[in-house]
Amino acid sequence: MSDEKLSNLLHEERTFEPPAALAASANVTADVYDRAAADPQEFWAEAARRLDWGTPFTEVLDWSNPPFAKWFADGKLNVAHNCVDRHVEAGHGDRVAFHFVGEPGDTRTITYADLKDEVCQAANALTELGVKSGDRVAIYMPMIPETIVAMLACARLGAPHTVVFGGFSSDALASRVTDCGAEVVITSDGGYRRGAPSALKPAVDEALQKADGVRSVLVVRRTGEEVAWTEGRDVWWHDVVGSASTEHKAEMFDAEHPLYVMYTSGTTGKPKGILHTSAGYLTQVAYTFWATFDHKEDDVFWCTADVGWVTGHSYAAYGPTAAGATQVLYEGTPDSPHKGRWWEIIAEYGVTIFYTAPTAIRTFMKWGREIPDEHDLSSLRVLGSVGESINPEAYTWYREVIGGDRTPIVDTWWQTETGAHMITPLPGVTAGKPGSAMVAFPGIAAEVVDDQGEPVGNGEGGFLVITKPWPAMLRTIWGDDDRYVDTYWSRFKSQGYYFAGDGAKKDEDGHIWLLGRVDDVMNVSGHRLSTTEIESALVSHPKVAEAAVVGASDPTTGQAPCAFVILRENAGDGGDDIVEELRKHVAKEIGAIAKPRQVMIVPELPKTRSGKIMRRLLRDVAENREVGDVTTLADSSIMDMISKGMTGTKE
Ligand code: ATP
Ligand code: MG
Repeated sequence: MSDEKLSNLLHEERTFEPPAALAASANVTADVYDRAAADPQEFWAEAARRLDWGTPFTEVLDWSNPPFAKWFADGKLNVAHNCVDRHVEAGHGDRVAFHFVGEPGDTRTITYADLKDEVCQAANALTELGVKSGDRVAIYMPMIPETIVAMLACARLGAPHTVVFGGFSSDALASRVTDCGAEVVITSDGGYRRGAPSALKPAVDEALQKADGVRSVLVVRRTGEEVAWTEGRDVWWHDVVGSASTEHKAEMFDAEHPLYVMYTSGTTGKPKGILHTSAGYLTQVAYTFWATFDHKEDDVFWCTADVGWVTGHSYAAYGPTAAGATQVLYEGTPDSPHKGRWWEIIAEYGVTIFYTAPTAIRTFMKWGREIPDEHDLSSLRVLGSVGESINPEAYTWYREVIGGDRTPIVDTWWQTETGAHMITPLPGVTAGKPGSAMVAFPGIAAEVVDDQGEPVGNGEGGFLVITKPWPAMLRTIWGDDDRYVDTYWSRFKSQGYYFAGDGAKKDEDGHIWLLGRVDDVMNVSGHRLSTTEIESALVSHPKVAEAAVVGASDPTTGQAPCAFVILRENAGDGGDDIVEELRKHVAKEIGAIAKPRQVMIVPELPKTRSGKIMRRLLRDVAENREVGDVTTLADSSIMDMISKGMTGTKE
């Protein structure tokens, strides 16, 4: 086996064809692929023309200075106008934009007319606070309607926002505020998490002792808890937004005007400020939302992602609103006040399209199917997955238990950097295979290549690259063009390919399977093994809910797979032989080479806010090193728990 290629271990035979009724009325049909391939630029231009332009564009792509792309550069539009005003102008003011559900059970219904009023008020209030086009605004909020309003108000003013996940510490907030030079912070007193108010404002106060340059802090009252107040700097949202005019004229901005900076979760090191601009981004998020989810006017869409993650930007704040969709917005955790909360919300609002992450699905598998089985989920017609490869076992569970075996699953591969869906089935066109993201989205050029940049054959693994620019691509890393070129464009420089950092394989039919980050690839006796396939093999064992596999240095094999495993609730402690049982299971499922050297049963795994496992931290544990930077963990106490739990359990 060649050293430059990733091994292809896991074999999956199941295929699910698109449901006939869905296929018959799908927004896009099979011809879309050929049409887009024949002229990708014209394909995206057509998608861009679905938006409202102040000044229509005449040129599509300017790639004269790679890797710095310009899309639709001589056109002008306003992003917020496209997400809000134009739906009201088209007579859809009464349509619900958001069904908001607070964790304590309070609800709000926000129509597009309401949204327009609030976005205009917030834009006027921000203008009063001195925010102008080009100024940066940091947003540090729970999942409440004001968060989306704040983002859209910034977009309306041409003031790029940077949303910082509400679960991050004051340090993480301070470094992001500093890196992008934010002058205003929008926050709230707090939000509700696991049945109790959880404060946010104190972290802002702390962050601003370390970060200079912020002159105003706009505070939404959500919990009503006491907050410290800095006179002259802090203002209440209800005072300044509540009293502002509901009229605001949206200025048209250049297509390439910066829209936002999103810091990647940092699974791999120092966070990078990914810059997205206006028209190309909006074009691709709006079009992929419509096509990938087959969105229709009467659908109710729910994306469970926090807005502190790119998924909440592209598929809650911008894509669905650009399409005039009705959405659910939920503030809390899936287990508050009970483990059926999500399914209750789906039944209550008749959610038809549901988009979540494999980590959540595996958590529900762990809790058991009795919980979702108690709720009427028959309104669902399309299910989506994002964030990591969905293990075949989790996929079939999702499809059967949540989707009643009728719903197609769209496994969408994309990144903060790509801005929008890149590889995914289309629910009315492409068959689904459990665990595969299938094919590049129409108009997107993805390839799996070897070390030399040559496409691998079917049945082989390698590096995932994007070979042509796309509208929602990142434009740079904020303030660091060199790092942008270096990080994404230097690996396959002579070919001019964007290197995503992920490994992938093509199966016998040429369909794409994501194999995890290449940084996580293990070299076991000269074989390059991906984490994903070994983890999926573990998850296919009936006692296993979640698994993380890392390569730890090994005197005989170079590296050896070490597995961290969470058991399903009904498996108890797994029994005396659990470790041997799981090692054998992996050997049987995918081969002896992948058999873990160690299996450690753990109560939790270290995860980022988007539910991704931080394998570098587990590698530290597996190699008995001190655990590295944990600032981007959703819950930083977990590493202590794992490290302590580890003592004595090693072989
Ligand atoms: P950082 O780059 O700072 O480490 P991150 O990569 O975790 O952060 P995101 O941009 O949210 O931040 O995640 C994108 C990555 O998530 C992809 O590169 C890929 O590894 C993984 N991913 C996302 N969706 C899928 C999917 N459907 N299948 C497989 N992997 C996926
Ligand atoms: Mg990444």
